[in-house]
Amino acid sequence: MKKTLLIVCDGLGDRLVDGLTPLEAAETPNMDSMAKEGVCGLMDTVLMGVRPGSDTAHLSLFGYDPFKYYTGRGPFEAAGVGLDLRQGDVAFRCNFASIKDGKIIDRRAGRQEEGLDELTREINNIKIEGAELIYKKAAGHRAVLVLRGAGLSPKVSDTDPEGEKVEYNQSKALDGSREARKTAELLNDFTDKVVELLAEHDVNKKRADSNKLPANIVLARGAGMKASIPSFKQKYALSAACISATTLINGVAREVGMDLIEVDGATGHVDSDVGAKATAAIKALESYDFVFLHLKGTDEASHDGNFKSKKEMIERIDREVIGPILREIKDATIALTADHSTPVGIKQHSADPVPIAILGDVRTDDVERFTERDCARGGLNRIRGLYLLNILLDISNRIKLFGA
Ligand code: ZN
Ligand code: ZN
Repeated sequence: MKKTLLIVCDGLGDRLVDGLTPLEAAETPNMDSMAKEGVCGLMDTVLMGVRPGSDTAHLSLFGYDPFKYYTGRGPFEAAGVGLDLRQGDVAFRCNFASIKDGKIIDRRAGRQEEGLDELTREINNIKIEGAELIYKKAAGHRAVLVLRGAGLSPKVSDTDPEGEKVEYNQSKALDGSREARKTAELLNDFTDKVVELLAEHDVNKKRADSNKLPANIVLARGAGMKASIPSFKQKYALSAACISATTLINGVAREVGMDLIEVDGATGHVDSDVGAKATAAIKALESYDFVFLHLKGTDEASHDGNFKSKKEMIERIDREVIGPILREIKDATIALTADHSTPVGIKQHSADPVPIAILGDVRTDDVERFTERDCARGGLNRIRGLYLLNILLDISNRIKLFGA
């Protein structure tokens, strides 16, 4: 039985720009050697033609059908900031934002953190009739809101319009249920009280004095309820650890019962110390059966539409992550792939299948480069993300016989 390392470069897959994808344009000797010595293929992380979010994609990659277990982003964000949800809680992903005359002027309050801890404490003192509220700040301008009480529903619309120069939304029930109407009313009541509390707040006066945008509203989206998810340990009888600097991904990993390993210098951005993450993964594989290593910079560069930055991030991952891993880890199953494509030309996720290479006790094919188009000719052919874990565990000789 071997150990398994799964490496996911977020949003790695792409389309052609001037005839090449960023992965094709990048110099990646280490990834290419994985392709050469391993078995390659393409993967639809959720389903063909479905544009995956990072959360639904990762659930699927861990072997959990997102159509069954995913009710919204909120619960995973909550888990990612260390909140333990109870059955019946509704959780939202939130942003501190800036409004003027009722219209949103910046969805991220200028990405400036000054005073947000103080505002978070005060928001937690807000009372709304009919539920308890828990508000916890996450990285930067982000936060999580949990509504706790009887008779709530996640079937409510977002207050975040996900645009600027527009008014924020009133939340509405998305089905005819009393629970959804109640939850929408509670969220609207919360939003009104936040706006009232923050309008003339000292923190915002200070922010104005130093020419910063005010943090004078909280926008909520992605309502969801905790799903009852069987743990990784129950499902696969494996000890598992996750190395990621992204709250949402840590949340998904925590919800399936993986241990989270924090790494100094890991930021989840293109400036992240990915080498330190690789070192942590190599070390974690000594004590865990399964290690999941997540690298976010590729997706960030893609959302910025920056081909050059994506290509450079890929080259840095090749040098600082894949290189050391191939040198240090000798006897394990190692998979390299992505959670979805994020083509720089459209700056958003797409359903284009992602390349995958698996190194270990595999039937090698004749693919010599780790790229979208080369992997399309690989021996794995085209697989569905939901089956990846089983495939990896089979290669690691950890899958029980079905039948006699
Ligand atoms: Zn992603
Ligand atoms: Zn993304």
